[in-house]
Amino acid sequence: MVKQTIQIFARVKPPVRKHQQGIYSIDEDEKLIPSLEIILPRDLADGFVNNKRESYKFKFQRIFDQDAKQETIFENIAKPVAGSVLEGYNGTIFAYGQTGSGKTFTITGGAERYSDRGIIPRTLSYIFEQLQKDSSKMYTTHISYLEIYNECGYDLLDPRHEASSLEDLPKVTILEDPDQNIHLKNLTLHQATTEEEALNLLFLGDTNRMIAETPMNQASTRSHCIFTIHLSSKEPGSATVRHAKLHLVDLAGSERVAKTGVGGHLLTEAKYINLSLHYLEQVIIALSEKHRSHIPYRNSMMTSVLRDSLGGNCMTTMIATLSLEKRNLDESISTCRFAQRVALIKNEAVLNEEIDPRLMIKRLQKEIQELKDELAMVTAEQRTEALTEAELLQLEKLITSFLEDQDPESRLEVGADMRKVHHCFHHLKKLLNDKKIFGNNTVSNTVSSESKDRDCQEPLKEEEYRKLRDILKQRDNEINILVNMLKKEKKKAQEALHLAGMDRREFRHSQSPPFPPGNPEEGQRMRLSSAPSQAQDFSILGNRSSLLHKKTGMREEMSLGRQEAFEIFKRDHADSVTIDDNKQILKQRFSEAKALGESINEARSKIGHLKEEITQRHIQQVALGISENMAVPLMPDQQEEKLRSQLEEEKRRYKTMFTRLKALKVEIEHLQLLMDKAKVKLQKEFEVWWAEEATNLQVNSPAVNSLDHTKPFLQTSDSQHEQSQLFSNKRFGKQLNFQEVSSHALCPQE
Ligand code: ADP
Ligand code: MG
Repeated sequence: MVKQTIQIFARVKPPVRKHQQGIYSIDEDEKLIPSLEIILPRDLADGFVNNKRESYKFKFQRIFDQDAKQETIFENIAKPVAGSVLEGYNGTIFAYGQTGSGKTFTITGGAERYSDRGIIPRTLSYIFEQLQKDSSKMYTTHISYLEIYNECGYDLLDPRHEASSLEDLPKVTILEDPDQNIHLKNLTLHQATTEEEALNLLFLGDTNRMIAETPMNQASTRSHCIFTIHLSSKEPGSATVRHAKLHLVDLAGSERVAKTGVGGHLLTEAKYINLSLHYLEQVIIALSEKHRSHIPYRNSMMTSVLRDSLGGNCMTTMIATLSLEKRNLDESISTCRFAQRVALIKNEAVLNEEIDPRLMIKRLQKEIQELKDELAMVTAEQRTEALTEAELLQLEKLITSFLEDQDPESRLEVGADMRKVHHCFHHLKKLLNDKKIFGNNTVSNTVSSESKDRDCQEPLKEEEYRKLRDILKQRDNEINILVNMLKKEKKKAQEALHLAGMDRREFRHSQSPPFPPGNPEEGQRMRLSSAPSQAQDFSILGNRSSLLHKKTGMREEMSLGRQEAFEIFKRDHADSVTIDDNKQILKQRFSEAKALGESINEARSKIGHLKEEITQRHIQQVALGISENMAVPLMPDQQEEKLRSQLEEEKRRYKTMFTRLKALKVEIEHLQLLMDKAKVKLQKEFEVWWAEEATNLQVNSPAVNSLDHTKPFLQTSDSQHEQSQLFSNKRFGKQLNFQEVSSHALCPQE
């Protein structure tokens, strides 16, 4: 943090006529603070006898007399500020003084000589020169140019060149966020990659400023112009971005109502002609007084915009421009007094740093890629996301032989590849789960045989017995539900015999990604910016549905039977039509978005070409003007007019398409959300249905009844009727039922 009071400088303008020059002296002793003394002749107060002081003395950082060159002003005042802006601090330089005292001359420069260039062009030149020299950072520069007249803001960088009055320019308004940060709505920021581009913008703004002025509004004397250079920098590889703003401000003329007042009123009560300067003064007064908690920034647009520059996060410099002709002495004294107050204001400039999340992501992605490359180098093989079909097969073979190997020392060697290790675990788990079904079979065998021989064997513990019985019940239910489904399926299949095989194919079809591959980059972008992609489709129990499981509190693992049942449930569910429809729409939208993206890129490059052409024409015209010593025509010629209208047309087209793309994106995101919701609903309904089926079966199944006689017998549906018939052969008891059904359940295709 840099704590600093606002730096004040004075610049004296050469008089129009020598003999009108007032009396003043500059004392610039090296050891002392420089001071300016103005002598006010006694006759100034309209012949009234007054006891007013004759001499007024003011201290400044430095005082630049009439002969000071623009170069000197830049070197001493602007360069240090530009330097801190390059470091990442905010900076402001504002010129304050009466009309005609040289504010515009100082800030922008004289219109005639190159050497009369003011602070803005010189600062731009300096900044771009520094940026070029410094290869340790990446910089981006944007320019904005705001004019405030009568409490209204206008964007001077409106490229339409149509403004014949200020009101034709886009109106800029102030927005304040909850953190009291000021945002300027409608003020365009134009990127400038070179000094030329930045100067073109300055030129465009000054032209608009000029065109917009009428004798009626006298904009140049009554308005404030704020030229802002926005600089962002970051070191390569870093995600920290520094933002700094440099405001170069040409304030409205500071003249007051009473030019020469009477007696004691002189220089004390004269009111500003410009109301916002009055508010600026109030802000300055409030800031220079200790213990003032409320600073009235909000009273005017100018003080709101310059809020940071006045007592905030900024290194601020004021240039008091003085016209020390006799008739202007009183105004000059006012200007100097104002400067003395300003000098009391303390600012605290901090580095404006922030982490850019996009850059962070990019950096991490890069890191991942580098690690992958490194890995590929070490293992001498290129790795993709997934294992290939051949690799999977190879692994499964390895696992089988590992499991079959009787040697307790045998090992499962897959190498240092986490994908393979993970796959092995998954495969083993799957085998184990499959085994469990078999295992239960054995358990049920054991249970029944044990129950038969219960008398002759040691009795099982009651608890263990109950546990086993529960598992048995559960499995039984599962199988019964599946049998029901299978039967229904069979019926349906028979009905639609002529369409044999269709169902299955369609089902498979619905599992393949519904969208064309398209441009991978675009896909990537869409995926980044919007909700999950279409590839994670609802038919696939992938990452996303495991997320759904978590959301809905469902169990992660479904037994094979249940999975199969879910697939059928899903297919037959009414919502699947809606989901399919949405998928279709989504597909359309994606291809529309893709096509639109391409057209937008085309329009963008067209705009670039047209702009380039116009600039080239300008350069040619200027060159022609210089070589033939002619003034550059102010009005654009016909050819240029044509180019401009083409440019406008292209911009309109671009805007329309862009708006449509934005709308499409919203729609796509919305559709994806809808599909998400549908999936969750489906899962939930399946769970409910499954639970219902299970309880119904528990109640009705004679097989279960044989174990649990306490529940009443209820026939509720056809399927259950069939079910009970299927299982009604009590002679074969539990074992038969189970084996019969399980063979069905495991081969649903039959
Ligand atoms: P302001 O913007 O304060 O109203 P200007 O910058 O327009 O004043 O200056 C008024 C006139 O005085 C202009 O013609 C300008 O070229 C001239 N002028 C101002 N300051 C100087 C200076 N330091 N040296 C030479 N001419 C100057
Ligand atoms: Mg001016």
